[in-house]
Amino acid sequence: MVRLYLPDLLFAEGRAHAGAGLLVGHDGRVMGIAPAETVSDAEIVRLAGKALLPGLANTHSHTFQRLFRARAEGRISGGDTFWTWREQMYRAAGFVSPEDIYDVARVTFLEMLAAGITVVGEFHYLHNDPVGQPYADPNTLALAVMRAAESVGIRICLLRTAYLRAGYRREPHPGQRRFYEDGTNYLRSLEALQHAAAGRPGVTVGAAPHSIRAVPLSVLKEISAFARAKELPLHMHISEQPAENEACLAEYGQTPVSLAAEHGILDSRTTLVHAIHLTDAEFRQVAALGSTICSCPTTERNLGDGIFPADRTARLGIPVAFGTDSQAQIDILEDARQNEYHLRLQQRERGILDGIGGEDIAARLFDSATAAGYRALGIAGGKLAAGEPADFFTADLDDLAILGADLDSLAAQAVFVLSRSAIRDVAVAGRFVMEDGRHPLAAEIRSRYRAVQKRFQEEE
Ligand SMILES: [Zn+2]
Repeated sequence: MVRLYLPDLLFAEGRAHAGAGLLVGHDGRVMGIAPAETVSDAEIVRLAGKALLPGLANTHSHTFQRLFRARAEGRISGGDTFWTWREQMYRAAGFVSPEDIYDVARVTFLEMLAAGITVVGEFHYLHNDPVGQPYADPNTLALAVMRAAESVGIRICLLRTAYLRAGYRREPHPGQRRFYEDGTNYLRSLEALQHAAAGRPGVTVGAAPHSIRAVPLSVLKEISAFARAKELPLHMHISEQPAENEACLAEYGQTPVSLAAEHGILDSRTTLVHAIHLTDAEFRQVAALGSTICSCPTTERNLGDGIFPADRTARLGIPVAFGTDSQAQIDILEDARQNEYHLRLQQRERGILDGIGGEDIAARLFDSATAAGYRALGIAGGKLAAGEPADFFTADLDDLAILGADLDSLAAQAVFVLSRSAIRDVAVAGRFVMEDGRHPLAAEIRSRYRAVQKRFQEEE
């Protein structure tokens, strides 16, 4: 059945429309934008009092980290900061069974839908059993996360992560025992996972060497060649903190991005996650090679990583996407606005990103929150243009945060003030997975999550 979704305000093909709806075909793809009176033979789905916008892309996520949200914000004796967080991360990584991973992923994906997110790039690095041995099927945990996404109804690109070592000249870390594989087994499992995903709607796979620290250059080159041959997206953490650059300099005599660029790792299918501490020359290399950067400001501010220089990347024309990463907060639009606000605090000026390359600030940040993320995950989408999947959310125009939004201000309202309280319906491939704020499995997902959280706290 062809449907016309008819809101009061529609944001599609990069601009706002009034008096027109989104025409969606049987296959869940956008056919075009049309006024109701011009359409016959379509079921009209009236979305009165609502705005319809493209679904948000969460390009970088580790779902299991939801388990210790808001539980690692203090210091431990000795004044530690990042390591307080890291010890909790290792504890959560060691704790979860395949069923727990499924339950934690489901609640995290449910929260993403509630935040208007329709696609997630899950950077998945838990592979082994709790003692560090591979499961009979080494993709057991990755498959549990995929099933969780399918159960909740969010689109997923499972970025299967290679994590081979603790770092240059470092002994294996017991907290990382569930991460480690060798390069051969990693590639075998990645290929198997690609087969497992084939034919499953809304599920794709990508390659994700964890970082230069965790994957030696020789294996990184193999993974990159494999991804290129299979036309998979390749995502990698890079230069999140200065210590990572120092370790890379000690091992290879170069910083991570220049090393990766020189060895042919970076191309238009590559996404560099964080990429905060780059030299000017490195940013120019990223621009020349056409790679995307995934910025995760809500996590980066939580971990004290530093400020992403979004003005420099904008001037170089580097595509930027966003990710919720540690799940400190799940709010891609907050990530969008922080990209600008962090620079305002730093430079004591307003409108830093406005007008760069002739682009309006809200248009730029909203494109990063949507189309740039889809592209980084290898999926054509995020603009609600003809042929793209009809992945969208609606916002209640009576919500107090955006009351008064109109045609001219819709993108800016979305980027600068829209909060989760306004989000009502979410559709993936033209099918509602959340309606009027309700998800059919929410009660079960909540109660199963509470049980996992309780066990996790009792174990401490
Ligand atoms: Zn990450």
